[in-house]
Amino acid sequence: MNKAIYYLSFLIIVLIFKTTSFLSQTPHHKCGQHIVLKELLKNNDFKTYYDQEQRSFSSSNQISSLKSGVVYKIPVVFHIVHNNGIEKIDRSQVLDALEKLNIDLRALRPDTSTVDSLFQPLIADIEVEFVLATKAPDGTCFSGITMTETPFSYNNGDINGSDQVDAVMMYNDVYQGNWPGDQYLNVFVCGAVGTGIAGYTYYPSGFFGNAMNNGIWLRHDYCGSIGTANPSASKTFVHEVGHWLNLPHTWGSTNEPGLASNCTTDDGVTDTPNTIGSQWCNYNETTCGSVANIENHMEYTPCRKMFTLGQKARMRTALNSSTGGRSNLITPANHFATGIDTIAPFCKADFFANRYITCSGDSLYFQDYSYHNPIAWDWYFEGANPDSSNLDNTYAFYPNQGVFDVSLTASGDSTTFLTEVKNDAIIVMDYNGAPLPFYEGFENINFTSPEWISNVGNWSITDEAAYNGNYCLKLENDGVDEGTKHILESKTFDLSDTTKAFFNFRYAFARKNTSNNDYLKVLASNDCGKTWSVRKVIQYSQLITAPDQINFLPSFSEWKEASISSIIGPFCVQNFRFKFEFESGGGNNLYIDNINISYENTTSINSSFYNEVSIYPNPVKDQLTINATNYFSQIHVLDIMGKTVLTKNLLATKKLVLNTGSLENGYYFIQIIQGNKLRSYPFMKIN
Ligand SMILES: [Zn+2]
Ligand SMILES: [Zn+2]
Repeated sequence: MNKAIYYLSFLIIVLIFKTTSFLSQTPHHKCGQHIVLKELLKNNDFKTYYDQEQRSFSSSNQISSLKSGVVYKIPVVFHIVHNNGIEKIDRSQVLDALEKLNIDLRALRPDTSTVDSLFQPLIADIEVEFVLATKAPDGTCFSGITMTETPFSYNNGDINGSDQVDAVMMYNDVYQGNWPGDQYLNVFVCGAVGTGIAGYTYYPSGFFGNAMNNGIWLRHDYCGSIGTANPSASKTFVHEVGHWLNLPHTWGSTNEPGLASNCTTDDGVTDTPNTIGSQWCNYNETTCGSVANIENHMEYTPCRKMFTLGQKARMRTALNSSTGGRSNLITPANHFATGIDTIAPFCKADFFANRYITCSGDSLYFQDYSYHNPIAWDWYFEGANPDSSNLDNTYAFYPNQGVFDVSLTASGDSTTFLTEVKNDAIIVMDYNGAPLPFYEGFENINFTSPEWISNVGNWSITDEAAYNGNYCLKLENDGVDEGTKHILESKTFDLSDTTKAFFNFRYAFARKNTSNNDYLKVLASNDCGKTWSVRKVIQYSQLITAPDQINFLPSFSEWKEASISSIIGPFCVQNFRFKFEFESGGGNNLYIDNINISYENTTSINSSFYNEVSIYPNPVKDQLTINATNYFSQIHVLDIMGKTVLTKNLLATKKLVLNTGSLENGYYFIQIIQGNKLRSYPFMKIN
C-alpha cells in the first residue's frame, strides 16, 4: 500500500447512479464531491484528525477475518427527509432496504453462489447486522423511522447534506435535536443528495464528534429494492455502509474508477487485487496485472455482490475502534439506550394498505404496522364489506365508489389499546367509468377526490389565466426544487365501446432561463391505476409556449395543444384513467385547460376529418356555424354532464347554422356524425 497516496485520499465517497429513466439524459458522473472534499481538506483540524486516524487504523492489529460467532448489532434510524412527493417513501420500502442490507452483510444473497470461482473462497460474512432503533435519544418509543417535511429534501447541485441534517434536527416528528452518531447510524433518505449522486457518507472520524452528520445519505430511489427503488439500486446502501466502516473503493480512495493511475493506489485491503476500478462487468479485468474482484460491493459494477475476508477484518477493526464513535454503537449500554437490547414496548397503532386508490369491486390488503409487538387488533373499514376484522393483516372489499376512513385499534397486552385513524385514506373510483365524450374546461368543477386526485404537488383551479372561459388548471411549479414531481390523477372513463380515443388538451409554460428542463408526461392506465404507461412526453421546445421570463402568465396566444393518439386497443377498457406527471426543471408554473377525450370512429378513420370541420364563433351567443368539407347528417349537443340537450337530423349537408339562443350559459360538446364517423368538439355558450 502506498500510504502517502492513501492519506491524501478522499473523505467523501459517492456512488454514481445510472438513470433508469427512459429520458436518459442525466449526466453519467458529476464530481460535486471533489469540490466539497477540497473544502474539507483545507480545514487543518480535519486533516490532522484524518491523517492520524487512518495511520492508526493501518498500524493497529486487524481483527481476525475468521468466523467469530459474534454478530455485532448496530442501531439504525432512517430519517425520511421529504417534501410531500414520491420521496416520502413507505415504511415497507425502508424495511426492505434494511433487510437487503443485512442480507448483503451476512453474505446471504441468492446470487452469492454465482461469484467467480476465483473469489468464492474470499466471500465474507461480515457478522454485522443493523437493527431499527426503538428509542429516540430522549427515550421516546418510536418506529425507527422519523419524518421531516422540508424543501431541503432536494439537494441539487453540489452536495450539501448539512441543510438536510439541520432540518431533521429541527423538524422531525419524533425527537428534535441531535441523534448522536456514536449511538445510531443515521440514514438520511432524501429527494436528491447532490446532482448525479445516489448516496454518500464519511469514513469514521473524530472530526464529527458525536454529531449526527456522521451518517449515510441515500437518494430515495436507491433505498431498498421496492417502491421508488429497484433491486439494482438497492446495492447502494451496502456500498455506503462499507465506506462508513472504513472501506475505500477496491481501486483506492478516489472517486474515479477506470483510471490507469488507480493501479498505483490501494484500498488497504490485501485480498482485493489491485485494480483500476470498473463500472461494468468485465470478468477478465486485468489492467493492473491480476484479475480484479469486479463483483465486490466496493466496485461500481452492476454485478457487485460480495465483500472479502480482508474487508471484513477492516470493517470489524473500525467497529472495535473508538474513532468516530463506532465502538460505542455495539456496546450493551448503547443497545439499551437505543432499545435494541430487548423486546420493545407497544407504543403506537399504525397500518398501511397495498393501494390507496382503487375501483369499486376491488379488495385492498391492509397490514398492521403497529409497534412494537402488538398482539390484538380491531379494524374498522368505512364503506367496505365486511367492515371489521380482528386479524393483524386482512383484505377489505369495497363494493361502491367513495372516499373512506380506516381505523385500527391495537394492543400489546390486550389491556391497553391505542387507535390510529386515517381519514379519507381510501379512494374508490367507479369501476364503470364515465362515458365519453369528456370535456373539462375547469370552469365549474369539483376539484376533489375521487374526481381528481392531486395529493402530490400543488395543483389548483385558477382564474389567473384560461385558454377559454375564466378558469384553468394551475400547477405551482415556480420555486420548487428541481427534480420535484407533481402528479394529478383522473377518475375512470369508459372506453370499452371504442378501439381508439382522442385525448387532447391545451397547456402553457415558459422557462425562466435556458438551463431549465421541466417536462410533462401523460400516462394512461387500463387497470384502474394499478399500472401506468407513458403515452406522451412533452419537453424541451415542445413544452415551451412563450419566451423565457419570470412570473409567467399566459396570454391567449401563448397556449399550445397536445394531442395523444396512442389511447388505443388495450387502453380501451371500462376503467381507463389518465394522469399528468410533471417534473420540475426550474421553470415557471404550468397551466392546463380544455382537456378533451372523445371518440374516434372504429373503422375507416379519416385523419384529416378533424381539420375539415370548423365551428364558430366559440364562445357563441345565439348562432353557432358548423362548416365541413364533407357531408354530415346528424348533430347532437351534449351538456357538460354528457346529457343530450339537442339533436338534429338533417339531409346531408356541409353547413349548418344552429340556434343556440335557448341554451343556458356553460360548456357543451357538439357531436357531428358523418356516416360511421363521430367527432365531438367543445364550445362555450355565453350571453
Ligand atoms: Zn463509493
Ligand atoms: Zn469524479
